[in-house]
Order: sequence, then structure tokens, then C-alpha cells
Amino acid sequence: MTTSKAMAYTSRWVWCEPGDLRQGAAVVLQDGWIIAVEGRPPRGVKVQDLGEGLLLPGLINAHTHLELSGLAGLVPPQGDFVGWLESMVALRPAQLRQNGAPATQAAVEALAREGTALVGDVTNTGKAAPVLARAGVSAVSFFEALGAAKAEPPPAAASWQGALLCAAAVAAHAPYSVPTQRLTALKARAGNLPFAIHLAESRAEVEFLAGQGAEGWRLEEFLAQRGLMREALHLAADTPLGQLAVAKALDRHTLLVHGVQLTSDEALRVAASGASLCVCPRSNLGLTGGLAPVEVLLAAGVNLALGTDSLASAPDLSLWAEMAALMQSKPGLDPEAVLTMATRGGAQALGQAGRFGVLRPGAAGPLAFVPLPDLPESEVIEAVVRGEHAAAPKSVGRVV
Ligand SMILES: [Zn+2]
Repeated sequence: MTTSKAMAYTSRWVWCEPGDLRQGAAVVLQDGWIIAVEGRPPRGVKVQDLGEGLLLPGLINAHTHLELSGLAGLVPPQGDFVGWLESMVALRPAQLRQNGAPATQAAVEALAREGTALVGDVTNTGKAAPVLARAGVSAVSFFEALGAAKAEPPPAAASWQGALLCAAAVAAHAPYSVPTQRLTALKARAGNLPFAIHLAESRAEVEFLAGQGAEGWRLEEFLAQRGLMREALHLAADTPLGQLAVAKALDRHTLLVHGVQLTSDEALRVAASGASLCVCPRSNLGLTGGLAPVEVLLAAGVNLALGTDSLASAPDLSLWAEMAALMQSKPGLDPEAVLTMATRGGAQALGQAGRFGVLRPGAAGPLAFVPLPDLPESEVIEAVVRGEHAAAPKSVGRVV
């Protein structure tokens, strides 16, 4: 492998990790890896000064479904979760046959352009992984199991091509769509890599597990029409989180996605398990009208990540827009906690702590840069998180 020359990037502000905002620091990249973070560029190294704005770790989209990008804009979420599922399942085969590949390509290009370094991508086909690799975007591809079908995800494995991570991991769709025994087997198959599962997303899911309520009944009918009978799940608990715990699928390698319906008590239980939780603000608000109890989860010490979910329920794959939506929905949040969700929290959730989401020697690029107006130090992070940018954020130092 040929080695490229090191390159130093500087800007007015540099955010290395939570609690570490610096002025005018230099981040040195070589072959896609961060090799130094220093007060000024080392002598003899080429320098690119990005100017007024914030240089930060490349963002981490911990939950998306890139192969569903062809459904963009077709199923506007309107607060009816089961209705949305019905529309999406009806449209999915024809739409994706028609425009699946070009839509996925365009989606990957967009997220690469605006500074995403790593994605947690749920897949049933594996088709997005080579597209991501070509665009220089690292990925943990979660092969998702659904129902009782025997088609097993491939064994979990992580590999690096230089500073590009290409990992295959295991996901189960949800506690209401995978039988208990299979959940246990899938979690075991995931090994020490992250195991992802949609959890407590909708009121329908909670009612289905509890065995009562009109929304739960609609979900039960929807599943039965597709051959997934309630009895075949052998449910062993009456809540989504309880079901996961009984199946021995809840530990520090588990990545819970959504958690809109989690209670405060359940937040403590998630914290005790060491599991991470990914919030998808615009998708959650659109499909269910709510969000996970983010303040309670943070106070309990749960590691939180940020995701967009698919283009079937989000208007685009911009994590910048997700941060702004989260701040708008929960104005009491600490902006730096939100930025941490999109960086270091996502890295931990995807089993990549120290490798992504921080500006430190040994971490992989690319970086992200947000042009900002001239601001005092105390306003820099909040402006980034609220989307008060002077121009579009961009990727810095991506190796393709
Ligand atoms: Zn999802």
C-alpha cells in the first residue's frame, strides 16, 4: 500500500470531543487516519486552513436503511404507524425494482458530501455496502432478520481497508416480529459486535406486547396478514424491553433504536444493561408524534446515538437537520450532549469507541467542517447544533 503525505487541517474552532473545544488547533491526517491533534500545524506538513467555523469529527448516522432510499417522499409519515407500515410494504417491491440502485447511490453521495464518516445501515440485501465503500463511508451493515424464516444473517465480522471500516453485524427487526427463541439465537450470532433492534417505537408495539388496545390489534392484524401469527412469537413478556431481556438480547452490545415509548423506569433498566439507544428525531416525530425520553436517558447514563432512519420516513439523511430537530423538540437539552450523540455516542453504539466520533490520534477520518459566522466561544456549539450555519457543512479529508 502506498502511503500518502500527511495533511494538516485548521480552522477557527476545533471540537475534539465533549468538553474539549479549542481555538485554531491543527488536525493532521495521513492515509485517512488522524495522526496528531496539535496547537499549530507541525513543521513541514502541508496545511489547509478552513477559516471561520468549526472542525469536528465526521458525523455518525447510527441508524438508516439505505436500500429503502427509492421510497423517498412516497409514504409521508402522518402519525399513524401501522398505516405507514401498510403503505410502505405495499409500495416497496415495485418502487425499489424501479429506482432502488440509483436512489441508494444518490443517498450515499449526499451523506458523504455533508460529512458523515460512519453509518449503521440496516439491510436485507447487502446492496448498499459496496456503494458506501466506493464513496469512502465506513459502515456497520446490520443484516436484519424478520419473522421465523430460516434465512440467517451472515456471521458478524469487522474488517478494515485502510481507514475504511466494513463490518457485517446482526439485527433483529423488532420484539413484535421475531420469535423469542430466534431473538436469543440472533443475539448470540452477533457476538461482541453490535446487535441492533427497533424497540418501543410506537404505541401499537406496546399495546401488541401487552395484548390489549386498538392500535395493538391493528398491528396484530397487519402481521397476521403477512403470515406472522402472534402465537408463533411465543412472547415471554408483556413489554418490548421485557421481551428483549427475557430473550437474553439486552446487554452492552445491544443497540436499541427509537425507544419512543420507554418509561422512566425502563430508562434505568436500559442504563443498567449498558445498551445504547439511537434516537431518530424526524422519523420518530413524523411516525408517532413523540421522542424517546432523552433527558431521562441522559440523566440515567445511557449512551445515546443519533440516526435518520430511512428516506421512507425522513426527508433526507442529514444528521445536521436531525440535531436541529432534536434541539427544537427538546429546547432544554445541552447542545453539546446532542453533538455527542451524533459523534462519540454513535461510535460507541456501533462498537467503535475511539475509532470514530473523536479527534484523537488513532481515530479514522474523515472530519466534518461547519462554516459559521463570527461567534464568541460560548455560542459555537449551539450554533452548529441548531443549524445556524454560514454555509453548508462539508466533509474534510475523505479518502476515496
Ligand atoms: Zn429502522
